[in-house]
Amino acid sequence: MRLLIVEDEPKMAALVKRGMSDEGIAADVAGRGEDALWMAQAAEYGAILLDVMLPGIDGFEVCRRLRAAGVWSPVLMLTARDAVEDRVAGLDGGADDYLVKPFAFDELLARLRALVRRGPIERPTVLEVGDLRLDPADHRVTRGDVPVALSPKEYAMLEVFMRRPGQVLARLTLLESVWDEGYENRSNVVDVYVRYLREKVDRPFGVASIETVRGTGYRLRADGGCSPASR
Ligand code: CA
Repeated sequence: MRLLIVEDEPKMAALVKRGMSDEGIAADVAGRGEDALWMAQAAEYGAILLDVMLPGIDGFEVCRRLRAAGVWSPVLMLTARDAVEDRVAGLDGGADDYLVKPFAFDELLARLRALVRRGPIERPTVLEVGDLRLDPADHRVTRGDVPVALSPKEYAMLEVFMRRPGQVLARLTLLESVWDEGYENRSNVVDVYVRYLREKVDRPFGVASIETVRGTGYRLRADGGCSPASR
């Protein structure tokens, strides 16, 4: 098991890291929320110890973004204030447990051990881009109130788009996110499936949400294709 410590105070981070190492638990340290985001997506951590007060994006936002990106490592949030609203904000953002600073080190270890034993629990949140809605819990897709039936690959591709609304996604990114490495017919499969998707989530509704970005790939409009200009 590997732990990610997200803490901007070097002394505190070093103390926790040393304590974990005494327990035989290796730990990486991220001093900023932005670093924690890419680190937690690049490697699978057994648990994430997340300080709320960070420079840049705070711990709540880090937790929200990790869950939105499909990272389900258990999160233990460290807060300096024993405020009820902090706890509520953390829970809403997908944290698993809390500890108020200053804390007893033994308690921190006990809580972390419990989280690691339990392991990641997926709590998918519904993705919404404009009036396009995708529920990872039951794989339901709707445009407005209208259900849209998609094949598994179409669904997987739409989910990739909906997790990054407004961003240009390269063909290779889409290919690697949706198809196995060994997939043989790689040359134009992405273009073909984008066409299928448009036929199902756009055309029947008279919108154009999936845009072609010449020479690069595709982008799902951040408004889901719903702004009046696109009609
Ligand atoms: Ca801090």
